[in-house]
Amino acid sequence: MRIVLSFIVFGVIVSCSSKYKLGYYDYPLPVDTNDKTIGFQEKKVYNFGDINFDNQFNGARLNDVTKVDDSTFVLLILPENTPINPSSYFALRFWSDKTQLLNLVLRYDDYRHRYKPKLSKDRKNWTYIASEDIEYNIDSTEVIIRVEASPAKSFLCAQELYTSEDVNAWCDKQAELPYVSYTSIGKSKLGRDIPHLDISTGNKNDKDIIVLIGRQHPPETTGHLAMNAFVEELVNESYLSKHTLDRYRFLIYPLMNPDGVDLGHWRHNTGGIDMNRDWSHYRQAEVRQVVEHIVAQQKVVKQDVLLGIDFHSTHHDVYYTVPDQNQQIPGFKDIWIEAIDKALVDGDIGYDSPYKLDKPISKGWFFKQFGAEGITYEVGDETDRIYIKEKAQVAAREMMKLLAFRQ
Ligand SMILES: [Zn+2]
Repeated sequence: MRIVLSFIVFGVIVSCSSKYKLGYYDYPLPVDTNDKTIGFQEKKVYNFGDINFDNQFNGARLNDVTKVDDSTFVLLILPENTPINPSSYFALRFWSDKTQLLNLVLRYDDYRHRYKPKLSKDRKNWTYIASEDIEYNIDSTEVIIRVEASPAKSFLCAQELYTSEDVNAWCDKQAELPYVSYTSIGKSKLGRDIPHLDISTGNKNDKDIIVLIGRQHPPETTGHLAMNAFVEELVNESYLSKHTLDRYRFLIYPLMNPDGVDLGHWRHNTGGIDMNRDWSHYRQAEVRQVVEHIVAQQKVVKQDVLLGIDFHSTHHDVYYTVPDQNQQIPGFKDIWIEAIDKALVDGDIGYDSPYKLDKPISKGWFFKQFGAEGITYEVGDETDRIYIKEKAQVAAREMMKLLAFRQ
């Protein structure tokens, strides 16, 4: 009976002779991750006399614009392919020769609105649109937003824009530190770099490994903000940082889906696949290169991968974890999450949500491949941005406390 239960709950290891060799794993709920066809947006300016819209920037998502009357326009927002998780992501610009009020109707066809619309003139400072300027239809498949158009172009986006250019610039900044090395481990399907940071002090070949990954899902920028703050805390040269980097090596893959990010995808890569369902047979180039790179690093040094954290966003803060089953650091996630909660005064502390390894997602791969603790660190779409940073700093500190002085 116990054998049957473990078959159902934890899946079956198909071929994993060694953690130093990449294994292939089957799950009770397998996912077909062979390439599917995606649609590309036509990149253009939609001109209506003195009023204009465009999607000619990385991270944009605008599929069509139609005029209803002089001040009302329907903006069609479609996913890259279907079926797809309903992360109805949009990003566009608008401007007009004279200052005037517009009613912009976001239409998603069969999908529902998800993100609170945000405005920016400079891509750096973002403001929420006031709730009285947003109207939803009965099933939220259409949203009317009142905005002021002016000659200065305004970005109207589901989330703040952090494209591959932004992530690579952030990596460049981190690599100013002597113990941070920044490389590209390969290319996405469309030839964009897959950036990688390798962080430790002293001899990296005598250290156990911690892995951080991010941006499998393009619109999940709050997870991206958390990961940035987490890494910056890790390298801030504090007492904790010094002791941690002296003992462990951090392999960081902050942008696993650069094509999807720059093309304004809702969920998938340009293979039309949810990359966080491809951690069993690695059919997508981006996932395959990352897992091969991680395993190869470990093979060289014959050290253990102890922990893998994958940063994401959803409707609220939560940790998706692996049920306790003899991970390499016993009890790590329970102690860590409790320590984070204790250190935070208020805010959405998030809760631990262990669930069975029934699908080929990254947290399960860290456990199956290495016996490592695998954690999906989820941040709410609209969680306060300052709080995201503070919590991620706390999370990094509490992780370092547990790791640096571990017996
Ligand atoms: Zn996600």
